[in-house]
Amino acid sequence: MRHGMDGAAEQGAAALAGLPGVGARTLERLARLGVRGLGDLLLHLPLRYEDRTRITPLGRLLPGREALVEGEVTAAVEAGGRRRSLQVEITDGSGVLRLRFFHYRAGLKARLRPGVRVGCYGEVRLGPAGLEMVHPEWRLGGARPEPALTPVYPATEGLPQRTLRALAGEALARAGRAETLPAWLREAYGLYPLPDALARLHRPPPGTDPAALADPADPARRRLAFEELLAHQVSLRLLRAQARRRQAPPLAPGGRLAEAFLAALPFELTAAQRRVAEEIGRDLAAPRPMLRLVQGDVGSGKTVVAALAMLAAAEAGWQAALMAPTELLAEQHRANLARWLEPLGLEVVWLGGRVKGAARRAALARIAAGAPAVVGTHALFQDDVRFARLGLVVVDEQHRFGVHQRLALRGKGEAGALVPHQLIMTATPIPRTLAMTAYADLDLSVIDELPPGRTPVRTVTVPAARRGEVVARLRAACAAGRQAYWVCTLVEASEALQAEAAEATAQTLRRALPEVRVGLVHGRMRGEDKERVMRAFAAGEIQLLVATTVIEVGVDVPNATVMVIDNAERLGLAQLHQLRGRVGRGGGESHCVLLYEPSRLGETGRARLAVLRETCDGFEIARRDLALRGPGELLGTRQSGPLALRVADLVRDGDLVPAVQEAAEALIRRDREAAEALVRRWLGGRMAYAEA
Ligand code: ADP
Ligand code: MG
Repeated sequence: MRHGMDGAAEQGAAALAGLPGVGARTLERLARLGVRGLGDLLLHLPLRYEDRTRITPLGRLLPGREALVEGEVTAAVEAGGRRRSLQVEITDGSGVLRLRFFHYRAGLKARLRPGVRVGCYGEVRLGPAGLEMVHPEWRLGGARPEPALTPVYPATEGLPQRTLRALAGEALARAGRAETLPAWLREAYGLYPLPDALARLHRPPPGTDPAALADPADPARRRLAFEELLAHQVSLRLLRAQARRRQAPPLAPGGRLAEAFLAALPFELTAAQRRVAEEIGRDLAAPRPMLRLVQGDVGSGKTVVAALAMLAAAEAGWQAALMAPTELLAEQHRANLARWLEPLGLEVVWLGGRVKGAARRAALARIAAGAPAVVGTHALFQDDVRFARLGLVVVDEQHRFGVHQRLALRGKGEAGALVPHQLIMTATPIPRTLAMTAYADLDLSVIDELPPGRTPVRTVTVPAARRGEVVARLRAACAAGRQAYWVCTLVEASEALQAEAAEATAQTLRRALPEVRVGLVHGRMRGEDKERVMRAFAAGEIQLLVATTVIEVGVDVPNATVMVIDNAERLGLAQLHQLRGRVGRGGGESHCVLLYEPSRLGETGRARLAVLRETCDGFEIARRDLALRGPGELLGTRQSGPLALRVADLVRDGDLVPAVQEAAEALIRRDREAAEALVRRWLGGRMAYAEA
């Protein structure tokens, strides 16, 4: 299968190279645009269109629109001054238009002399003396209308529109009437035929409204978006089917241990927690591996739900492993699980990245001997870690990993013919349409309710120049017995630089607030030092904790009610929301102060901060984030990830997703070959599902 995909890629490149005028350099430039085969060329869709199909009378021109016009030159005047310019006036009887040129050759004035007929294309603007075009494209003798709208493609240096248009034309001609989806599927979902869709998008007939082509309801765009989403959906479903063919140990839920655990908790589960725990319980009881994603906003109480699943494993005599992406978060899970499970007589083994030597050997021995609960970081999945009977893997904050890491995890901890169940927890609420597309290989549970008694965090944005006021507020908050975080951010800087910035800030704050007990935590500190500081903060011994973004995920200190984020404009919405989620966990009113540097605040930055001021709802934030940034970035995967969509847009085309899901199921069932071909065409070798 792998070979088949590579073969397809080679064929694609060969077909491209076979087009007239395409040499090694053009191939390389096309590759920069993601175009590696004829098929890619067809899917390299225009960004917009120019309408050169008809001549607009000068009297009917509208400012702000591009137009093809023609007329007779009535005057050509050179204006001196600082910027020499040539002003040419043309008329067609219906109106007058002024053409303005700034950088031009000496002969231009003579060529555009009065009496000459000229055709122009450009944007019409309202100038000082009426309608004008600045630097239009022009030709002598009059305008020559084109037979179709002119596509404007995403381009790259050395590949002009002219070339891209010619190549698209060649690709269209070669594709002919070839269709990629079975007729029954096209009929069932009312999909436009592929050749018609491609022709409409690359060569829109005269009279087509360019705006209509970008409309999600446009049948051509809709057809391609549908097909692309279908390819993604099918590929993930094939992955999932493969995983489902394996056997897993059935772990019956709700035993004695779970009862004792719930009885000892100082709170009742929320209805959402109960529902999700039940969904997980049903999966665990089956002899097929569970593949479930639990989404829940920060503070929604995912850890308790994970603990219940781990107890089901223990009760059935199997081991459960919980993995978190950072030491700090993993340590916190260890502390929680030890507090919950050890009173029930269950051993919790710790395997962080910094556990070395004798301690590590001891931990490995306990794991190999069948310790019921194991907590750690990526260290859990090193080669020499052998579980006796691993029945369940829990991964926290999964949004940092992609499909391929998920697959690698699945392979770990196989016990003979059995594979472990897998539970994935993410605090990044992803809009449902995106989740169903990105995580189609997983079942989805949502904890859509916060524990009672939480008050929304009040958020303000403050320019950096007014930092002094923020410090004064911190003084007052600490004097009133409250605790606070001050988060230092540096974008794409090393941990060392981050640590340095945090140290400097801690010093400044210690000097400004001598009466406040200030602590510091950053990624360069040893695990036990970090833990000591965090414990002191949790115990109230530290009042103000200066930190890097290491505290982004999971840290839970209900007493802390103020969160200051320095250089907030440098962080994305999801990260800001996570950080803010560190406060508002107790009953008291909490505040979040977003300090920003106005000179670095672009339009998107401004919009991001406004979103945070307006809402604390993680799902709403994710939805707005998606609109501001696009899905690749939201998932932290950008172009390389499983969701590098080329045509579809999950904001615009999100309504297609339910139909796409249904179609994917039908296609796999009725025409497996067509399903696999579809995946190859859209995703090439990127989805190596055959290997999984
Ligand atoms: P997250 O979903 O962000 O991982 P946690 O599992 O860390 O959330 O839970 C956040 C806090 O809420 C913890 O202190 C936890 O003990 C508490 N908590 C969890 N569930 C409930 C509940 N049903 N009622 C009250 N507090 C709860
Ligand atoms: Mg958590």
